[in-house]
Amino acid sequence: MLAIHLIRKRLLMVFTTLALLVAVASAQQTAAQQTKPQEMDEDFARSVKEWTTKPEFISPLVDHLPKSQSVPSPKEILGHHIGAPGKLTYYADIINYYRQLAAKSPRVKVFTIGSTDEGRQCVVVAVASEESIKNLDQYRAYLGQLADPRKLSEQQAREIISKAKPIYHVMGGLHSSETGPPEMLMELAYRLATEDSPIIKQIRDNVIVTITPAAEPDGRDRYVDWYYRYKIDEKSEEETFGGPPYWGKYIFHDNNRDINYSQVTMRALLDWYLQWHPPIMHELHESVPFMYTFSGQAPQNPTLDPILYGELPLFSNFEMSQMIKYGMPGVWTHAFVDMWSPGYLGFMASNHNGMLRMYETFGNAGANTMKRKVDNQTTREWYRPLPPYKEVIWSMRNNTNYMQTGVLSALQFTSSFPKIVLENFYQKSRNSIESGKRDAPFGYVIPAGQRDMTRVAFLVNTLRIQGIEVGRATSEIKVKEGAFPVGSFVIKRDQPYGRLAKILLEKQDFPDANLRTYDDTGWTMGLMTGAEVKEIADKSILDAAIEPVQKLNIAGAVSGGQATAAYAVAHYGSNNMITLRYRLKDLKAMAVEQSFKEGATEFPAGSFIIPVNQGGKDVHKLIKQAVEGLGLTAAALSTMPAAPMHELDIPRVAVYSTWGSTQEVGWVRHALDRFEMPYDLIYKERVKRGDLRSSYDVIIMPNQGGSGKRIVYDIEPRSKPIAYTKTERFKNLGVYGESEEITGGMGLQGVAEFEKFINAGGLLITMGTASFFPAEFGLTRSIEAGRTSSQFYAPGPIIEAEILQSGHPIFYGYSKKTVPVRYANGPLLQIPERDRARQVLMQFTGGEKSVLSGLMRNPAEIRNRPAIVDAPVGNGRVILFATNPCYRWQNHGEFNMLFNAVMNYNDIKLPEKKPDATANGEAKQ
Ligand SMILES: [Zn+2]
Repeated sequence: MLAIHLIRKRLLMVFTTLALLVAVASAQQTAAQQTKPQEMDEDFARSVKEWTTKPEFISPLVDHLPKSQSVPSPKEILGHHIGAPGKLTYYADIINYYRQLAAKSPRVKVFTIGSTDEGRQCVVVAVASEESIKNLDQYRAYLGQLADPRKLSEQQAREIISKAKPIYHVMGGLHSSETGPPEMLMELAYRLATEDSPIIKQIRDNVIVTITPAAEPDGRDRYVDWYYRYKIDEKSEEETFGGPPYWGKYIFHDNNRDINYSQVTMRALLDWYLQWHPPIMHELHESVPFMYTFSGQAPQNPTLDPILYGELPLFSNFEMSQMIKYGMPGVWTHAFVDMWSPGYLGFMASNHNGMLRMYETFGNAGANTMKRKVDNQTTREWYRPLPPYKEVIWSMRNNTNYMQTGVLSALQFTSSFPKIVLENFYQKSRNSIESGKRDAPFGYVIPAGQRDMTRVAFLVNTLRIQGIEVGRATSEIKVKEGAFPVGSFVIKRDQPYGRLAKILLEKQDFPDANLRTYDDTGWTMGLMTGAEVKEIADKSILDAAIEPVQKLNIAGAVSGGQATAAYAVAHYGSNNMITLRYRLKDLKAMAVEQSFKEGATEFPAGSFIIPVNQGGKDVHKLIKQAVEGLGLTAAALSTMPAAPMHELDIPRVAVYSTWGSTQEVGWVRHALDRFEMPYDLIYKERVKRGDLRSSYDVIIMPNQGGSGKRIVYDIEPRSKPIAYTKTERFKNLGVYGESEEITGGMGLQGVAEFEKFINAGGLLITMGTASFFPAEFGLTRSIEAGRTSSQFYAPGPIIEAEILQSGHPIFYGYSKKTVPVRYANGPLLQIPERDRARQVLMQFTGGEKSVLSGLMRNPAEIRNRPAIVDAPVGNGRVILFATNPCYRWQNHGEFNMLFNAVMNYNDIKLPEKKPDATANGEAKQ
């Protein structure tokens, strides 16, 4: 053991040469290190060696762990070393470890930053030198100053940089099946707090390391339960079974696509970020072998600072070369995730002039050691000079060794050049402001007085929570693009987050149609919300007089005093209309089917009419409260309007989910919850029980599965049933639904029940790829669902759609003939010519011009294809959306198509059938 220590020590001395270049590790410290070696944990070294499946899968940075008299190691608290086979740690135990560490070490501090949907604490752990921890607030303040250089001279900035330290933030456990990082980070924290090697000292002195122990705490516990229930006995890759139906409450893997920070845990981290300004945020993921380190490959978002594209490969190449030097195979860069979409969680750093970093290491979706075969990413390439093996026995400890060695190398690099990191952070912040003064567009205006201001408020507030400054014009604005009234919202680009504002508001021009990308290509917020946003190339916008907006609240108003007949609430397309209906569910309400005027106010079709005489209820007060709080427009009426109207009955709604594909369902559930629309979440168990019509009027089937067959047959059955149930031992399972057997799908029995439901007068609404289901299984007999060709490629662009049946209740609140929609890769629907004119409610215009933002390759393929079809079947109907009208809390401009369908479920009428001589003639004979 002694010999090994000596070799290690010699290696460590070699590694410090880089540090010595910048003269950070003082000669004194090195001498002290040599004279009195720190006591090491022999049990750790022995265990780790045993759990590491080949000698080359470990590095001299992590093959040892100091013994401390005062500070508890992970084993002392958890009972085992990190990377022990068959051991995963529950979230409460992880947090408990960090708290014990902080209680005993003056180099560790834990901050609570929020709580999850299920009430678990969100925390950030800081590890640094005693001096740094003692003065954390000062260091935080320095970074805050560098983040907004408007108040700094160059001289002041240089002084701050000379005193400041970068915060390097590391995050694990965003994806719950990627189980290794939350384990590894505990060991990393202990090592950083206790080890006295020159590298660790240098890191501790020069960098403040902060840690998100598990970015999805609810999902962590659910997955660990699942692992102990089903996966702990898995011996081989062939045996492995998927994870639980849920991680967190709603959105599963998409917690890394939450571009508008809709989920509470993601939002808590953003709030923390904007208080602490870590220049680097590093996500730890698991997927490809053995370690991929993100270098920001093309397509790259050109609005981000070019410095960033120099920094990213700098870090990843350093890690790769270090780890190759240690003899670790399979570390590579470049060819995986790209730099196009700004919606990944850690991207909050890049978006705010810092840097997103990311690893993918090789995980076994648990802590079992097993043989793994690797098909991809094993060739030698210029970015993969020492490729991973095609076959390998892989363990949790291997995974721990790789990611910890990687992170320590990244920290070594950062601590060797801390001032460069700070300079770059400062320079990027400054460049963002300068670019806003130099390059058009110079700003964006969101005009006041839009018909529906609630979606404007959503847009403004979504910018505000990301730290973007929004002002309200104190006088009329006159620029080349036109005149905008007082009260209009102005986003000037000459601000620290001016680049981010541009990224979110501009049209996404995808640079090369031959490139593929990892996520969406379009997200332009004005198009997604259907709110008007004007890009301003006139530089004088920078001088517009404004007052800052903190948070925009739209107060609704009821005009005309106390009504004698009814109140009218205008449907201008606010998503709050459905909230209003449910807040006033005990009141009778009608929807007008044609527009009418009351005074100067126009009440378009779909506006609510709520009579005042309703069995002694204080309608006046209820309306005033609800309308004002929801930002709506209402008027008192002395007579009922002459327009035809129908009653808005409150439907009984179910949302259908397969067990195998809950994510997109989760986004819909989240939106319905936010807009206060109650529903039952149902699965195959309820469907197979039958008689759906006695319980429900409307069943929503969100985008899921990808095909009708997958919706019907879902997860492939195993030899034994797989239960998702809550038990005494596994309390985190059986949440958001329970099943004794999640595999097998609803089967044809379920299809028959859906058919009965529709025939008996129910409304089935299918969204996105769920619209394959009614077409492929004959629920809508004459509708075919096809697919685009292999030349077609459309990763989430925003395109134009044309409303064909403007009188249909689905389009209440929509005033224009064309609307921007997010393309959802739903079915290419085809319906017989005889039904087309009546049943196709909206179609894709198709062609190059119809692509409003992002990439669609071969857009001619969807020209004039139905985007929404209303198909009457028996006594009921199916409304098929080829679009996804409720996508990731993004396309608020489309939500109402879903909400309107629900609210008007039993009053949907199609135009009269035109007499068709041929068909009628044939039928008569
Ligand atoms: Zn991941």
